[in-house]
Amino acid sequence: MRGLLLILASASACFGWGCEGHQIVALIARAHLSPGASAAVDDLLASQPMDPALSRYCKDKQADLMADASTWADDVKRTELTGAWHYIDIPRGIHNADLTLYCEPVGESRDGKDRPGCILDAVEYELGILKDKTASPPNRAQALRYLIHFVGDMHQPLHTTNNNDRGGNCVPIQFFDKPRKSNLHAIWDTDILQRDFASRKLATADAARDVDQSFENELEHWCKDGADFEQWLWEGHRIAEKATYGKLRPHVPVEVPDPSADCALETTKTGALHLSVTEKYQDQSGQAIEAQLAKAGYRLAMVLNSVWN
Ligand SMILES: [Zn+2]
Repeated sequence: MRGLLLILASASACFGWGCEGHQIVALIARAHLSPGASAAVDDLLASQPMDPALSRYCKDKQADLMADASTWADDVKRTELTGAWHYIDIPRGIHNADLTLYCEPVGESRDGKDRPGCILDAVEYELGILKDKTASPPNRAQALRYLIHFVGDMHQPLHTTNNNDRGGNCVPIQFFDKPRKSNLHAIWDTDILQRDFASRKLATADAARDVDQSFENELEHWCKDGADFEQWLWEGHRIAEKATYGKLRPHVPVEVPDPSADCALETTKTGALHLSVTEKYQDQSGQAIEAQLAKAGYRLAMVLNSVWN
């Protein structure tokens, strides 16, 4: 569904974290893999390479195989019909619920539509394949590529939150002096992070090291409950409320969930608020995003280490 918004949003809007975000998560995870898991990940990715004919959205080819694999799931979501697997629409204002309410079990495509499922089921499904040593190597490599990507997406707060606005895609916002209006989802995917690192002149690999060092003391705390996927999603949902929406001025009201919400109407409504990013919003959001990337990296390493322990 979110893929349809290409016209409204900048191209990066449909991609979850942008290239840098996903690559940083993978590079942080890499630094925390056990030697055995790190070698097994490379064996699997190298022995089952991606289709060389696949058009890659992220043009800066990464030397690290995990970082290179981290954006693959976005490149194939239209052909694999897995667009719905990248997020879960927990409505704003909901603090506690059975997440199956917002998530169909993973299944096969019907009538050429996206395969049913959400990020929660998709992660469990792909982890099941990766752990199954009898599964074929191509299927396990694919499962690994999905996992590297989805653990990242799970930590993008707008992949776990919806306000009848397709996770912020239908909320226009002015990002500093960018010539074209952006939207809330896109700036959380890409713009805030790029501005954050550009101001410090950090390229992706250095940014990953920098973020890792900043948050290493939190690693134990963030991983103490093991791979609790539901808890990770709720955590992102709370950050969306507190930071992503919560720090915007004027306030964007919490809406009553409407499954048939219209993006064009929502865009007009929120557009009337004339939202723009301030230096304060940029700083607060940049810190929240860096913490989410570190969390995602540490937790991805924990999940992969458990596969090859
Ligand atoms: Zn994604």
